[in-house]
Amino acid sequence: MYGRIDRLLVSLGFALALAAIPLGCQSVPETGRKQFVVISAGEERQLGATAYTEQLSKAKLVTTGPDFERVQRVGKRIQAASERRYGKAVAGFEWQFAVIDTPEVNAWMLPGGKSAVNTGLLKVATSDDELAIVMGHEASHAIARHGAERISRGMAAELIFAAISVSGEVDPRLVTATAAAYGALGETAFSRSEESEADQIGLFIAADAGYDPRAATAFWKRMAANGGGGTPEFLSTHPSDETRAARLEKLMPQAVGIYQSAKGKPQ
Ligand SMILES: [Zn+2]
Repeated sequence: MYGRIDRLLVSLGFALALAAIPLGCQSVPETGRKQFVVISAGEERQLGATAYTEQLSKAKLVTTGPDFERVQRVGKRIQAASERRYGKAVAGFEWQFAVIDTPEVNAWMLPGGKSAVNTGLLKVATSDDELAIVMGHEASHAIARHGAERISRGMAAELIFAAISVSGEVDPRLVTATAAAYGALGETAFSRSEESEADQIGLFIAADAGYDPRAATAFWKRMAANGGGGTPEFLSTHPSDETRAARLEKLMPQAVGIYQSAKGKPQ
């Protein structure tokens, strides 16, 4: 005999199964992990663009000078490498690389390639190799659609249906959920497996962009030690330095191979 909660869960599951007909199951590029997402990529990009406008309107932006130029320079190469490697996943992205004047050590990218790097992070990521590793990592969360996956898991099916059935109108709750899920509100709860996935994809993107991936291991360790002033998304849920370093070392031969072949090409 089903109780009320059981019936609710059954109908919720049924609604999600219906939603899965056009959307639902897809694979993360590079890792091939199967994921369940009930927001379309186009809708997610729309949510990202709206959340981006909101976040930038509240921020003190740097729009000229060496910090700004540096983030544009590295960002454009991260963009080009992402397009080369994961063209299908980044189709429709309109990349942007804002610089926010705040000491908090953080960076993030929303769906559609709308990103920001804080000046506080630029003081810790002193080389372009290091900045590329962070920006590649952030791009990877957007490429792997980790936020959409989280929202799909955590939100009531009715809300998703309401949000995606109203044409042209974006539900403000979904905009906030998107900003939160991708770390634009200061911290996130990406899972350890999502962080590992972003480390891997990000390492390969940075290498393909012509940045030395061998900078990653020491850099993430230094970030863990210097990361004060908030909880950057890439440290909030991360496994121990040793675990992360061991995983990175395992990926390094492949990453260095990508780097060596990228170095000979114009960026
Ligand atoms: Zn992360």
